[in-house]
Amino acid sequence: MKDVQDFLKNFQKEMNWDIKGNNYQESRSSMLNNYMLLTTEVGEVAEEFRSIFNNTTKLAEDNNISEEEAFKLAKNINKEKIGKELSDCIAYIIKFANYLEIDLDESFYNKMYEVKMRRNKDAG
Ligand SMILES: [Mg+2]
Repeated sequence: MKDVQDFLKNFQKEMNWDIKGNNYQESRSSMLNNYMLLTTEVGEVAEEFRSIFNNTTKLAEDNNISEEEAFKLAKNINKEKIGKELSDCIAYIIKFANYLEIDLDESFYNKMYEVKMRRNKDAG
């Protein structure tokens, strides 16, 4: 993940898309704006999921195939677009991590370990 964080740090600077702010109010405004952009991208993932479901119904009806078969085809049809929307989400998430100087490798694996331990505790 460090590679992606480094790539995006440079990319966002180059595109002038990094979180700005010389003072608290400017930083707050830029963070909130970027947060809204992230939630917009999450919505776009939902739109792609809806598209999969709509395509599943249409493919099943038009080709007289099972829903399961149509679902497989629909997932494949929408795969590239969903990949793009998930990438948009990741870009904003990493932008926040970079702004806050969070090492996502460390944070991610620590959090997954924490979740695993919590789940095991619940199961036991
Ligand atoms: Mg998008």
